[in-house]
Amino acid sequence: MGKVRLARFCPMCGAPVELRLRFGTERPVCAACEHVIFFDPKVAVVTLIAHEDRVLLIQRANDPMEGYWALPAGFMEWDEDPAAAAQRECLEETGLVVKIDGLLDVFHTPDDGGLADVVIAYTAHITGGEMAAADDAAAVAWFTRDAIPPLAFLPTQRLIAQWKLQGDTLDAQRRHPDF
Ligand SMILES: [Zn+2]
Repeated sequence: MGKVRLARFCPMCGAPVELRLRFGTERPVCAACEHVIFFDPKVAVVTLIAHEDRVLLIQRANDPMEGYWALPAGFMEWDEDPAAAAQRECLEETGLVVKIDGLLDVFHTPDDGGLADVVIAYTAHITGGEMAAADDAAAVAWFTRDAIPPLAFLPTQRLIAQWKLQGDTLDAQRRHPDF
């Protein structure tokens, strides 16, 4: 676990916090109002879109891993359905409207070099839009199995490795009819 989370002030009343034993471990607790701060994982979503023996990748426009390629991905808003977040990120980065087919995997990635602690992976197919890189993507392109570029981050690396092995039989764990 390379990451350290710190808090100095209470989000409820603004008073300084101090570490106290709460719910089995030391957590920041407000000295004034006793509010306990729970640090939540940063959750990202990633989407594998494969079509006719090719997979859709974006080239990262920003650090970390600028210039490397990855599946379309991004952070969920706190109140967003993860499947809706996956759709939104695909649209923002690739210009493409997608339908989520199902859940592929869930990764725990606190030490991956990215900013996410948990990554939820979906499979999807394109239903509309115009392919054009935007937002966090400098480029968007289709790649065949024998021409995969350098990849950023463990979830993309794992999912592409799985896709290269299993190809069209790569299947979702659970169908997702709503998005
Ligand atoms: Zn407080």
